[in-house]
Amino acid sequence: MSVAALPKAELHLHIEGTLEPELAFALAERNGVTLPYADTEALREAYRFSDLQSFLDLYYALMAVLRTAEDFTALADAYLERAAAQGVRHAEIFFDPQAHTSRGVPIGTVVEGLTASLDRAEERYGISTRLILCFLRDESAESALATLEAAKPYLDRITGVGLDSAEVGHPPAKFRAVYEEAARLGLRRVAHAGEEGPASYVREALDVLGVERIDHGLRCMEDPDLVERLVRERIPLTLCPLSNVRLRVIDTLADHPLRAMLDAGLLVTVNSDDPAYFGGYVGDNYDGVRDALGLAPEQLRTLARHSFEAAFLDDDEPRRARYLAEVAAHAF
Ligand SMILES: [Zn+2]
Repeated sequence: MSVAALPKAELHLHIEGTLEPELAFALAERNGVTLPYADTEALREAYRFSDLQSFLDLYYALMAVLRTAEDFTALADAYLERAAAQGVRHAEIFFDPQAHTSRGVPIGTVVEGLTASLDRAEERYGISTRLILCFLRDESAESALATLEAAKPYLDRITGVGLDSAEVGHPPAKFRAVYEEAARLGLRRVAHAGEEGPASYVREALDVLGVERIDHGLRCMEDPDLVERLVRERIPLTLCPLSNVRLRVIDTLADHPLRAMLDAGLLVTVNSDDPAYFGGYVGDNYDGVRDALGLAPEQLRTLARHSFEAAFLDDDEPRRARYLAEVAAHAF
């Protein structure tokens, strides 16, 4: 029994992290970029990471193949097709403009390319979408502000802002100014916190950046008062179990705190993060935790319900209600 057919929302997905080796080689050829790998097999071999940084090094190197708007459209189309096959009905997609503008690819090229795909996602794949602009936290606060400024002509297509990349040593408070500006512009706010970084980063993201959701956040379990607050305030946490194993945040899926987090009453969701690199798309993550943690159908249904409750669908509540009804009616 696969959990693929269970309707779900994906809320933690980096579009650059959906670049499969086959597409990377196809785009490299189209754009005349030479990759330092002989073939797709050699590239897959490189997908063995010791920590977040070793993954990020490869991740940024491979982005060199993404150059034109058509490349970004192809990337998003490939993700949406796979997501649809794994039960995704709504996707909130992160993108990292600084990883592209630093290579000379304008933010407009990235946004136009992605939205060309997202605009027809509903009709083609039955998936509603939102786009979330992420700042790279290992870049400066000034660079984040400049990125938000450059994004202003495209804000009608961008729902919110996020914060990703290397966490330790780059606390949320570094980005106070850009989050204040994002709030002023009416953008929703999320941030990665408590993945490799400590539970205190989760508090800081809530208190200083005013985020509505925490991406990862699993290290909140080290702080009972914080857990109590997250439960009370119904703050969603977007967990990515396969990512946690690949990046060695935990040893095996059986060690994942997801079950304990559900039992604690936390609003946890299951997502894929960078699926091309971490061994599976969102349905594979559901399958993985079901098998490793022995989750019952009712718990899987709860995870799917959470994903729609946590989605930025406030401007379309009838749609959220429809998705929640689909989850309730789903038979395993
Ligand atoms: Zn992430």
